[in-house]
Amino acid sequence: MPNTTASPFRLAQRCTLMNPSILREILKVTERPDIISLAGGLPSAALFPVEAIRDAAHRVLSTQPGEALQYAPSEGFGPLREWIAARLQAAGMAVEPGRILVTNGSQQALDLVARVMIDAGAPVLVESPTYLGALQAFTPFEPRFRMLAADDAGPLPEALAEPGYPANDRARFAYLIPDFQNPTGRSIPAPRRQALARAAIASNAVIVEDNPYGELWYDEAPPRPIAASAPAHTLYLGSLSKVLAPGLRLGYLVAPPVLYPKLLQAKQAADLHTAGLPQRIAADVLGAGLLDVHLPRVREHYRVRRDAMARSLATHMGDLADWTVPAGGMFFWVRLRVPLDTLALLEAAVVAGVAFVPGRPFYGDGITPVAAEPARDEPVADADRTMRLSFVTVTPEAIDDAINRLAGVIRQRLEATGIPAKARAAESTC
Ligand code: PMP
Repeated sequence: MPNTTASPFRLAQRCTLMNPSILREILKVTERPDIISLAGGLPSAALFPVEAIRDAAHRVLSTQPGEALQYAPSEGFGPLREWIAARLQAAGMAVEPGRILVTNGSQQALDLVARVMIDAGAPVLVESPTYLGALQAFTPFEPRFRMLAADDAGPLPEALAEPGYPANDRARFAYLIPDFQNPTGRSIPAPRRQALARAAIASNAVIVEDNPYGELWYDEAPPRPIAASAPAHTLYLGSLSKVLAPGLRLGYLVAPPVLYPKLLQAKQAADLHTAGLPQRIAADVLGAGLLDVHLPRVREHYRVRRDAMARSLATHMGDLADWTVPAGGMFFWVRLRVPLDTLALLEAAVVAGVAFVPGRPFYGDGITPVAAEPARDEPVADADRTMRLSFVTVTPEAIDDAINRLAGVIRQRLEATGIPAKARAAESTC
């Protein structure tokens, strides 16, 4: 989608590669009170640990006001880096605080990685579909997105070696979200993670492992990160947005020593450092063990809504679509069995009072005018039938109402297309 806004001034060429996020456009509509929004990617504000953050802010500003409001080290606040390192060590990663760079959300980490790793025309491997915000962060640096071949367990390890491509055309990195992926909600099982780690080491590939959702598990904790098995070949990204609050804008990356200095320089050039006050507030609440009580609450709240959406989908859309129940995270990924384009459905859905995100923009070949290499195993029609439904900010009753309305819109559209039931069933098998 090229940016068509005319400017009276001469803008950098890369502005043609910066486009409004379809998510943000949809979110504008969903602010209307009459719409039940399953479109957002936001955590529930009802769960923000406001009291703890207020008390910590008071403590920090009373005991260390000068340091909290002064310029600060680019690497991040020492005690916060130490807490992050300890948390990652408990998850099976051998991480020293010196390898951690605190960022302005993990979104900034994606931008820094792109600055340091991507030249114009360089290939980048992405899952298909993948996080739209990562595609947006990478696109201004003009990569060629190459879709990673995958099966039900996730990306194929042999795809990391890029058989069939010459050595001088190897991808700069492979971008993966192994835990409760945005948008599909799927996780990569342990054996596949280990195989991906082995493949990255064997083929000297870099994996960018983005993990903002790993703590939001509802059945059992996810397996160890890929970074635990291939620390020298992984850039690991984490975030406090989903476990504390996104407004703190705190994320981090863990880099191998050979990559850390360049990422740090990119960070210095971008914003000198992440704001010191929220870092100190976060270090205070996290150091006091807030997550021990807070995360179980968050998981329970989201689990109830996840289960509600699973029930509502089965009740209202069982004959219309396929999905898998996510074991964590915030999203259901629904694929219509019937041949309808979800982007075209959205308007009617909004009229019926429900919003969702059509799946199309999450595919790397759909976002950028830079020539994407053709997806090898993903028929286009399949991408157009998908949609992402968030379950975390809506009550179970509203979820049921929304899914019911959505099913009604799909049925109406089917009636209007006049496709006979038999033909629809045949379509559904492809
Ligand atoms: N990565 C993924 C996969 C995400 O879904 C998000 C936010 N929705 C981010 C990164 C960015 O998160 P933040 O900047 O708030 O840490």
